[in-house]
Amino acid sequence: MQTSEKIQSMRGLDGGSWTPFLRAKEMLAAGESVIDLTIGDHDIKTPPELIQAMNRSALSGRTGYAEICGVPRLREEIAQRIESRTGITTTEKNVVITNGGQGALILIHLALLNQGDKALYGEPYYPTYPNTIRAAGGRPIAYPMPPEFGFQPNRSILESLAPGVRTILFNSPNNPTGAVYPMEKIKLIADVAQRHHLWVISDEVYDTQVWQGEHVSIRSLKGMADRCFVIGSMSKAFAMTGFRIGWLVGPEEVMQDIAELITVVTFGVPEFVQDAALHALQKSHELEQQIAAPFKRRRAAALEILKGRNAVSLSPPDGAMYLMLNIRQSGMSGKDFADLLLARERVAVMPGESFGATASGHVRVAMTENEDKLTDALDRLASLVESLANSNRT
Ligand code: PLP
Repeated sequence: MQTSEKIQSMRGLDGGSWTPFLRAKEMLAAGESVIDLTIGDHDIKTPPELIQAMNRSALSGRTGYAEICGVPRLREEIAQRIESRTGITTTEKNVVITNGGQGALILIHLALLNQGDKALYGEPYYPTYPNTIRAAGGRPIAYPMPPEFGFQPNRSILESLAPGVRTILFNSPNNPTGAVYPMEKIKLIADVAQRHHLWVISDEVYDTQVWQGEHVSIRSLKGMADRCFVIGSMSKAFAMTGFRIGWLVGPEEVMQDIAELITVVTFGVPEFVQDAALHALQKSHELEQQIAAPFKRRRAAALEILKGRNAVSLSPPDGAMYLMLNIRQSGMSGKDFADLLLARERVAVMPGESFGATASGHVRVAMTENEDKLTDALDRLASLVESLANSNRT
């Protein structure tokens, strides 16, 4: 049977992004000892009180169909959270509950793109971005954010690509690079979007994980609330990746249209999951800190162990749970180096190329193991680059 052209256009285009993760999983399942630093899934488990809140809700009978756009009390809670963080009036009518940040990403691209519309996204990118745009019928166009620009957006690159484009997607704090865009870069994106009449999609799923600098939401900028959509998630901030719950915030009239899409795509998010999310958000200050703290400590330990290891250079890990390491002195591609590191040192990391050619010669390390394991892995990684660099010189 022939599947649609759309799905065929998506096939194999992620360049085997998830291969190292799948390989590490296989090795672990076969009983091998591997330090798995591939994907952004916490080793820290969901706080038990959130599981209890979910159980209480389900046992009380909240197991039927939920409201399509989400439980009103949860939408209100998210509206308040966004309003207090951006200073922009936000009501529950601006919020819909989605199946994770990914659910929000596909809904908003489906809502905004016509068949063949050009849609910009930053590279290095979160690997689902290009196929999310393709699935929505759009034409993905990457705007490169090379390492020499600190993996930050650049005006002349954006200006050259913006004409004729319908949407621009960006992500700060960034996966995979750990970059946090300062106010001047958020203003740059807003300015380009306003002058070229683009809709802006701001993926802020790591907004509670900022180690250096400050998270700026583009929604807080003058004139942007009518033009931008913010994607949020319970996954990273509350260690709730498997609960599949997040949100989309944007202009009310578009949210009404999104309800039509949710009706045919998922028919909503389970009520007991929404109740657990509400419980988490009501205690957000305490829980967010609890989940973020280990990553902050690990980042500090990583910087310490990599100090003076000049064969490896680290882009400033200002936010999110990742380190992006330049391993070019090894003389290898990120992919070949990641394969060798796994085979020789039993350390699994993601090749930079999994996130687009802009990150070639790099590997991404997810800080999803405790300090001891993480620093052991980084030490082995740096030693491997050093020995390859030395043998290249001789
Ligand atoms: N956006 C970015 C940048 C991510 O890194 C992820 C997950 O890793 C997501 C969105 C989707 O997260 P979820 O669907 O679990 O909320």
